[in-house]
Amino acid sequence: MSSVLFDLILVWSSQESDADYLELQNLLKTEFPNEFLIHSFTTTKQAIEHVQSIKKPSRLSIVITKLGTNEETSSKPLIEAIRSHDKHTFIILHSCTACRDPNIRWSFASLGVNMITETIKPIRDVFQQLIPLAQPSSKSKYACLYCKWPSFSLEQLCIHVPLYHTNEQEFSVKCNLCQRPTHNYAVHLHDEHSPEQHPRSIAGPLYAFSLVVCRRKRDNCFLVVQESGSMGFWLPGGRVELGEQLDKAAERETLEEAGVKIRLTGVLKIEFIPRSDSNRLRIIFFAEPADENDCEPKTIPDYESYGAMWLTYEQTVQCSTQGQLRGNEPLKWFKYIAQDGIIHPLSILSKNEL
Ligand SMILES: [Zn+2]
Ligand SMILES: [Zn+2]
Repeated sequence: MSSVLFDLILVWSSQESDADYLELQNLLKTEFPNEFLIHSFTTTKQAIEHVQSIKKPSRLSIVITKLGTNEETSSKPLIEAIRSHDKHTFIILHSCTACRDPNIRWSFASLGVNMITETIKPIRDVFQQLIPLAQPSSKSKYACLYCKWPSFSLEQLCIHVPLYHTNEQEFSVKCNLCQRPTHNYAVHLHDEHSPEQHPRSIAGPLYAFSLVVCRRKRDNCFLVVQESGSMGFWLPGGRVELGEQLDKAAERETLEEAGVKIRLTGVLKIEFIPRSDSNRLRIIFFAEPADENDCEPKTIPDYESYGAMWLTYEQTVQCSTQGQLRGNEPLKWFKYIAQDGIIHPLSILSKNEL
């Protein structure tokens, strides 16, 4: 690659004494010897004059400016001067003050600075992302609707928009690729046109399940449901309904499947299981009967289950060896409780947003 791709405007007040400036110069010399036409200034005023003298840019520009302390070197007027007529200049603010003070960072982001950093390494990394955007090809037929730069390929546009315009206000516009109306062009571009496949970004369903390990203190028996269809013994519990709290689902399902009113006393485990068709969240609660003297399990079969019963750990082991458990989970949890495993407080599940 021998042709110049970008105008690179450097605004640094104390050039020779600044270690970062020297590091940047060294980086440009060793890694990017041909890509940039460098314009170097020591005051904001000179840089503004230069920027304003360019009437019709033939190349994209990158500006790197250091935040000075006095009027001469303050970056603000330069940024305002650039943004008053273009959005396609990539502006990097090199400033430890802005990196460490949220108000300053916020105000420069609002002015239209694309990137704020206090080290040179990220500048090098962003150069590597920017360079392919300045190499037009026969496929470069799309304009950016934010900055009006005319010649991007689809791939370039999908890199350009989040890099350059991620901090801009949402705006409603007709997509120039599919002609459909959009109210957030950047998101639309990412979701509908990004050449990379993003299966992760597709919002899929999340199903939540509450399961219950319920122990009766007086005889250390555990409550199991005999599932319909001869599926075997299993923990009471089921799917959380729309608008329902996790704990309410646990209580409801235990009453429906096992006929026992319970009091939840803790949480044994929170599981999240991502799958390709849906994600699953499972909460395993620990509970005791609401009334130890009135906790006869359900005996009349219905849609929910065949019935339920109280089992000792030893009986559960036997059921397991005879293939009468739907899976090993009851055995695992009953053993865990018998061996005094940790029970987390119910308060780890919050019902409210902070
Ligand atoms: Zn743009
Ligand atoms: Zn579209």
